[in-house]
Amino acid sequence: MTIIQCISPVDGSVYAERPALSYDDAAAVVARARKAQKSWAKRPLEERVSLVLKGVARLNEMAEDVVKELAWQMGRPVRYGGEFKGFNERSNYVASIAHDALAPLLIEKSDKFERYIKREAHGVVFVIAPWNYPYMTAINTVAPALMAGNTVVIKHASQTLLVGERLVRAFTEAGVPEDVFLNVFLDHDTTSKLIAAGSFNFINFTGSVEGGRSIERAAAGTFTGIGLELGGKDPGYVMEDADLDAAVDTLMDGATYNSGQCCCGIERIYVNENLYDAFVEKSVAWVSNYKLGNPLDPETSLGPMAHKRFAATVRAQIEDAVAKGAKALVDPKLFPADDGGAYIAPQILVDVDHSMSFMTEETFGPAVGIMKVKSDEEAIALMNDSKYGLTASVWTKDAERATRIGDEIETGTVFLNRADYLDPALCWTGVKETGRGGSLSVIGFQNLTRPKSYHLRKSF
Ligand code: NAP
Repeated sequence: MTIIQCISPVDGSVYAERPALSYDDAAAVVARARKAQKSWAKRPLEERVSLVLKGVARLNEMAEDVVKELAWQMGRPVRYGGEFKGFNERSNYVASIAHDALAPLLIEKSDKFERYIKREAHGVVFVIAPWNYPYMTAINTVAPALMAGNTVVIKHASQTLLVGERLVRAFTEAGVPEDVFLNVFLDHDTTSKLIAAGSFNFINFTGSVEGGRSIERAAAGTFTGIGLELGGKDPGYVMEDADLDAAVDTLMDGATYNSGQCCCGIERIYVNENLYDAFVEKSVAWVSNYKLGNPLDPETSLGPMAHKRFAATVRAQIEDAVAKGAKALVDPKLFPADDGGAYIAPQILVDVDHSMSFMTEETFGPAVGIMKVKSDEEAIALMNDSKYGLTASVWTKDAERATRIGDEIETGTVFLNRADYLDPALCWTGVKETGRGGSLSVIGFQNLTRPKSYHLRKSF
């Protein structure tokens, strides 16, 4: 039997472990979800929405435990209070649009004909979630999928082993009927076999590009719909007329919050030559204010990365860039808690270019590269010189110029004068290797349902 473990980044101990389900046991769980789906979908939409919101409220009541568990599982400092703000905002927003988003599209209603397109739940939706924002990434699909009448099976990341279990407990205690929302502990092999057997009607995978490829391969030939929300290397572009302080504040926060482990974290910044020196100087000062340490200490503002292997990737990228001529500007002596393992000091590199993996591969850590640019054309070319495309953050006082530039950037979201925020009214989506599909917004509901056409002749 495979035992799945969560190794805590706090001290390297085994924080939690659970036995992985065998294929047959996992298939039995999916069968329960399938059996429960029809009666769940028959409940009035208002009732489903209300039960999901009760589940969200019940999780909020568990905040004290949730915040501590998050610190132990993936290192988020307790001072940030978990991820309830975004979790609640997204849930409430999708609840507020569910009625309209799922309403039939009426084409004709006359004495002779009724023609309309209904949105019908897919059936059983499988959610495979990552550890970096374990509640927020999961709720993006769990809430609208359940509201739309699907049942949901969730498999959470090993690093955040307890999150799926806790979410399901909260929703069940709040009155979501048995078997409508189920948690499974699975290894990769069983996950792939279940998918390959066509067990699910829709899969949402949020995680790495490699993970996404495996899921797509496993689903090949089953015609299962898949939403893939994968890695990124999101750029910022600061123009000569930008508000410097706001740009530094937002982009440095975007680069380093959650120890840089954000899918839409800022990983590379291009700054107009006229603002470059000031931007770099203020950014180094901004980042140097962090207190790196144990995430359970309320004074800590920067926790460890979720695992020492993730920090090792960041260190290797920095080392490679420095060997190729980059300069590291943040003084490591300011961060005595850096232990060469999961606890890693934030870093800013200059004299970087796109020959360095630090500027092209996902870093997913509290480190960012800053490059000087002379023109919009140069910045656009650099922003597009990436295999990823999740968000891009441009900084100027001229919204029209930003829109023109935004039209040229190969990305899922364009931000003007903000970054690293997921607006639940907009579609969360990526281009290139960042994946395909889209969650939240009306489009998220459409992706979690299928169209069914009714063509009714009422008289001859
Ligand atoms: P990951 O290693 O790909 O894992 C994501 C989830 O998929 C986990 O539950 C993992 O389970 C599972 N998984 C991975 N490979 C699998 C396979 N071959 N078969 C079955 N299941 C598999 O990603 P992560 O390290 O958790 O998350 C970080 C990545 O997610 C980053 O690249 C980040 O950019 C991306 N991300 C993207 C978005 C977005 O919206 N685009 C949002 C958040 C994160 P185990 O943990 O058990 O391996």
